[in-house]
Amino acid sequence: MVTEKHFDYIITGGGCAGLSLVYHLMQTPLKNKKILLIEKDVKRHNDRTWCFWEQEKNPFESLVYHRWQQMYFYSHDFAKKLNLSPFTYKMIRGIDFYQHINQQLAAHKNITHLQASVEHIRTMPDGALVKAGGQTYQGDWVFNSIRFAGDEKPSKADQHLLQHFKGWVVKTEQPFFNPEEAVLMDFRVEQHHDCRFVYVLPTDAHTALVEYTIFSEELLSTDAYDVALTNYLEHFLSLRNYHVVHKEFGVIPMTDRPFAAQQSPHIINIGTAGGLTKPSTGYTFLRIQKDTQALVQAMVSQGKPVRSQQKWHKRFDIYDSTLLQVMGRRLYSPEGVFTHLFKNNPEERVLRFLDEATSFWEEVKVAHSVPVSPFMQGMLYAFFRRIF
Ligand SMILES: Cc1cc2nc3c(=O)[nH]c(=O)nc-3n(C[C@H](O)[C@H](O)[C@H](O)COP(=O)(O)OP(=O)(O)OC[C@H]3O[C@@H](n4cnc5c(N)ncnc54)[C@H](O)[C@@H]3O)c2cc1C
Repeated sequence: MVTEKHFDYIITGGGCAGLSLVYHLMQTPLKNKKILLIEKDVKRHNDRTWCFWEQEKNPFESLVYHRWQQMYFYSHDFAKKLNLSPFTYKMIRGIDFYQHINQQLAAHKNITHLQASVEHIRTMPDGALVKAGGQTYQGDWVFNSIRFAGDEKPSKADQHLLQHFKGWVVKTEQPFFNPEEAVLMDFRVEQHHDCRFVYVLPTDAHTALVEYTIFSEELLSTDAYDVALTNYLEHFLSLRNYHVVHKEFGVIPMTDRPFAAQQSPHIINIGTAGGLTKPSTGYTFLRIQKDTQALVQAMVSQGKPVRSQQKWHKRFDIYDSTLLQVMGRRLYSPEGVFTHLFKNNPEERVLRFLDEATSFWEEVKVAHSVPVSPFMQGMLYAFFRRIF
């Protein structure tokens, strides 16, 4: 039965993945479908900054806040000025992205933007039911980007690390930064037997985003991030006079536990909830764009949102799992791993490898650039957890 509460598509969560999906739908004839987007927050603040490297232009090129072609890598015994060419490292601010798409949505009467909290999603024979704000909505297809508590239960064999970070946007009175050059990873900070680095992204001579990032099992106390950031600014940048004008904090799962791409035939998981976060790096933004674009293309051409991935491409899951096993089981220091990668490979190969765009022969060269024994062990663990 078609009622007012029936929709062709329901999108739960209006963050990066939900808004990307609706944006890509709006570029096709499917923009005329009856669509419901449910998001609990108003999205008036810049809650995150997305950075990524790419060669081509993405659909949100006009929103790119800053871009860099030169970046630095530092570890305790190695430093390199990275030539990113042919890539550019780009930054998009969450708030610009939310406002851009939400403004476009407002012009579409068939798209309902509901501010409510989704309580649950239930499967039905030809669709799904979504309960939000005390009401129940029926959708032919539901695209879910919400990670519900209890959904993510890693088994013992899975590596489950957290990428947690705190960033400060600092401003200086005097010109201090070079906005043409950024720091991709600085491992010279105390490692505390896990993986810790800082990145510095200057957007003008007075302003930079400085972010302290950790890959580990547990979060730190709130103070610990601030102390680490203060130390870094003082001891590595020799910066004492500055104002912190904005703060961001985030936690991203880094796990080889497979996220369910679908909850049922008509409930498709998207975004981090759909496993789009790259397990070994946490980069997600561009992967979400590719995935939501491909889903929409399949809906246009085949009438349903099917994902196709070549089996051969799945080798990258093994590489991610191997690196997580190496880090999680402390088989080799992550600082050492990244140092070997950047020391022994052209930076372009490293970036394409992390983008899952290398040939098998190039992957052999990447494997050859890191210590063999810990990675063989890590790969064995990765295979065993898959088999058993
Ligand atoms: C601070 C931060 C910085 C990041 N930086 C980068 C980066 O530089 N590069 C990169 O590639 N990736 C980055 N990521 C990782 C990833 O790109 C982002 O997390 C991205 O936002 C994931 O998109 P998503 O749609 O899966 O989740 P989200 O963008 O978090 O969207 C989920 C949405 O669901 C809403 N929601 C949650 N529960 C409910 C509910 N019950 N009812 C209704 N709505 C609900 C939330 O409010 C949110 O808007 C970062 C993540 C964070 C947290």
